[in-house]
Amino acid sequence: MTAVLTLGILGAALGLGLAFAADLLAVERDPRIEGVEELLPGINCGACGYPGCDAFAEGIIEGEVEHLADCKPSTKKNYNAILQYLKDHPNKDGSIINVKI
Ligand code: SF4
Repeated sequence: MTAVLTLGILGAALGLGLAFAADLLAVERDPRIEGVEELLPGINCGACGYPGCDAFAEGIIEGEVEHLADCKPSTKKNYNAILQYLKDHPNKDGSIINVKI
C-alpha cells in the first residue's frame, strides 16, 4: 500500500514538473511555417535539400530559401499559391519575404 501511494505521489509530482517545464521551455513558432507547408506537396522527399516539407517551409519563412523551384515536385500552382500567401502574411514590419520561383 505504501509503495503504491509513494509511486502515485511521485508520478503526480513528475507529471506536474513536466507540464510546468513544457510551458516554460516552449519555443514560439511562426504560424506561417505551417501555412506555407500546407501549400507544398507534402511528400517529404528531400529533393529541396531540406529533410522535409516542414523544414523547407521554415527555410522560406526564415529567408534562407532563394528559389521555390528547389522543391521539384511542386507545380507552378504551388509556387504562385506560396507567393500569394507570403504577400497576404507579411513580416511584422510590413515587409514581404523575398523568395523567387
Ligand atoms: S522537395 Fe518539396 S516535396 Fe520534397 S521535401 Fe522538399 S518541400 Fe517537400
